[in-house]
Amino acid sequence: MWDLTEAYGADARPERLNLVLGVYRDQTGGTPVMAAVREAEIRLAERSASKEYRGLSGNTAFNRAMLSMVLGSGGAAERAVAVQTVAGSGALRLLADLICRTRPGTTVWISDPAYVNHRPILEAAGLTVRTYGWLDAEGRFDTEGMLRDLGRARRDDVVLLQGCCHNPTGVDPTAQAWEAVAELASEHGWVPFVDLAYHGLGDGLEADLAATRLFAERVPEMLVAVSCSKNFGLYSDRTGCAVVLGASRQSLRHVETALQNAARTLYSMPPEHGAAVVTAILEDDGLRDLWRAELDGMRARIEDNRRGLTAELTALGRGEQADVLARQKGMFSMLPLTPRQMLRLRSRFAIYGTTAGRINIAGIPAHRIPCLAQGVAAVLGE
Ligand code: PMP
Repeated sequence: MWDLTEAYGADARPERLNLVLGVYRDQTGGTPVMAAVREAEIRLAERSASKEYRGLSGNTAFNRAMLSMVLGSGGAAERAVAVQTVAGSGALRLLADLICRTRPGTTVWISDPAYVNHRPILEAAGLTVRTYGWLDAEGRFDTEGMLRDLGRARRDDVVLLQGCCHNPTGVDPTAQAWEAVAELASEHGWVPFVDLAYHGLGDGLEADLAATRLFAERVPEMLVAVSCSKNFGLYSDRTGCAVVLGASRQSLRHVETALQNAARTLYSMPPEHGAAVVTAILEDDGLRDLWRAELDGMRARIEDNRRGLTAELTALGRGEQADVLARQKGMFSMLPLTPRQMLRLRSRFAIYGTTAGRINIAGIPAHRIPCLAQGVAAVLGE
């Protein structure tokens, strides 16, 4: 991915379009600091008195705020612990380490295709990885395939699930399909491990958290990796947290200690700034409303872009491909193009997506949508 970004940087064509990285872009192509974040930073700068070390669990007010945001008011937060991490990637790695420390030899199941870093992170922690199906031949969510594959998961296995806005496909299970997966988890006893990186950018914050909360209701044990990179726009501030649910907070004491011990050997303590910003936003009604409105605005722009692209493709006689895109949600879409066609899109039209076909829907300025559609239609017709 970073090699494609480098190739893009060296591309001198003025019409070049970078849709590779998963970063929200506004209409001007920028990734501005959110107004709620800016305001929180101003307030923090005025009152911050010290940069003294925090504990190994990071900012505890942030951890509490994350628990209540992710798990809601249904009581699940009462039987959970959270530890601040170095963003979503840090949470994935810390939880992978926890699995290794508490249950060496565990197998973790990931989707096929998966977020590009899932397998490397899990394997780096020493875990065995297996895959379950995600899409059928028409590019729809494959409920049967997933249930069949996960039917082979054993009681001690862990299943990594993206809670919403699946990266790279943009295809999520329906509410009904999530129900079936949660039922399978509670019947078979494997542990769900939910990766939340795009909540708020699919159907809205609460709706995007529904699957995570469903699992929390149905299973005794669960892991959640939470990223604040996308929905707070805090990419470089590396903000996130690792959540573990068990029988009670009391029974999770040793889990929190294990997470702290793992953090100590990886990076010691997470950076404070992003966590302080998120806490300041979530603990203040005005800032929280402002943030929610901005997040909804980002989601609306993503939806508009996807709708625009499907309309243009339909107008160009590519209704079938447009239907595939219309079913997707969140920051990414998977263009129904082969790696060769993606290469052609790059060489002929200076449009950069990943070789597997993933594009960042948020990365398209509205006035460039027709040329993206024309490029896609042209390479499909070659
Ligand atoms: N999970 C998924 C599915 C992602 O797409 C990403 C970011 N691209 C992450 C986790 C990690 O994000 P970060 O470490 O930047 O918070």
